[in-house]
Amino acid sequence: MNTIEDNYRHKGLRQQMVNQLRSEGFDDERVLAALNEVPRHVFLDSSFVEYAYSDQPFSIGSGQTISQPSTVAFQTKLLKVENSMKVLEIGTGSGYQACVLAAMGTKVFTIERQRNLYFRTKEILEKLPFRVKTFLGDGFEGLPNYGPFDRVIITAGAPCIPQKLVDQLKPNGIMVIPMDNPDGGQTMLRITKMPDGSLSREAYGNFKFVPMLTGTASD
Ligand code: SAH
Repeated sequence: MNTIEDNYRHKGLRQQMVNQLRSEGFDDERVLAALNEVPRHVFLDSSFVEYAYSDQPFSIGSGQTISQPSTVAFQTKLLKVENSMKVLEIGTGSGYQACVLAAMGTKVFTIERQRNLYFRTKEILEKLPFRVKTFLGDGFEGLPNYGPFDRVIITAGAPCIPQKLVDQLKPNGIMVIPMDNPDGGQTMLRITKMPDGSLSREAYGNFKFVPMLTGTASD
């Protein structure tokens, strides 16, 4: 059972997690404030509270994982969000990354392809004060009826830069995407859509994500 209880122990563990990221050199205080606000333990089974605030990924069922806090922090920093921006997330998973973005004042639209996971997460998000709109579908398609977006964040390993997501990005918009590399992992890319429509890319190191897959699934 997930619970929305957020007691002093949870808050203390969360503050420790944030302090640790800061001591390791993470320097975006706006992102750290958002991480301090979102109760990560709510996204895990209640028997795993101890793990919720350690810097590790964790299984959330349906063969999927909640990204580790340092990866969430890193992608969020790269995305350079500002208040009131419209953000499209591909790969809702636990919903944690979506809440961190919402805690920064953005309007988050998030897509998950696995039906059971989608409903489980939707239920958790409804109990939390973060404004996140959830969608069941294939993230490669984006949300043409809700765009264009200021930002797009992909939280699964992508085989390519999905053209439809580029099309739904505003001029000067930014996409953060872990893109499959020949080593079996992903290279984190920050892509900026220039006003003339061309893409400028910056690469930021290697990561390991679950794969971005086409279509939807029932689990
Ligand atoms: N952002 C998540 C991490 C999710 S793991 C969090 O904060 O917990 C990646 C998720 O992407 C998985 O749930 C997986 O099912 C989903 N996914 C993979 N390919 C997808 C696609 N094409 N469209 C939508 N979701 C996808």
